[in-house]
Amino acid sequence: MTQLHTWKCVFTADHPLQAATMATALEAEGLTPQLRGMELWGVAVEILFSEGAAPSVWVPAMQEAQAQAIVERMRQAATPKQQDWLCQHCSEKVPASFESCWQCGNERPAAAATQASAGITTSEGK
Ligand SMILES: [Zn+2]
Repeated sequence: MTQLHTWKCVFTADHPLQAATMATALEAEGLTPQLRGMELWGVAVEILFSEGAAPSVWVPAMQEAQAQAIVERMRQAATPKQQDWLCQHCSEKVPASFESCWQCGNERPAAAATQASAGITTSEGK
């Protein structure tokens, strides 16, 4: 495993597409990522899973810090940060982890992305 001295794994994906997306992002930043584990996909996926191998993205050691910063940025973009929200009923500020107001039980207002379906009434009156 002497190659590990010059190449660093900066990202391990659950899926080849994820790895490819990350590699593309790194390339866009001028890095020279290498995908590993990909060639096994489609040939022996089941074996791959059973052995715990996964597609991963590697970069030359000297690019590691920069690559990790990009990976981190990609991760944050992929998982939008949850924000505290204001209850529309009692104006209480509710932590992001709550799906309904901890004070009055009113449901969390729909996110901006789902505003299109705001007209659909939820089963509020049980
Ligand atoms: Zn409330």
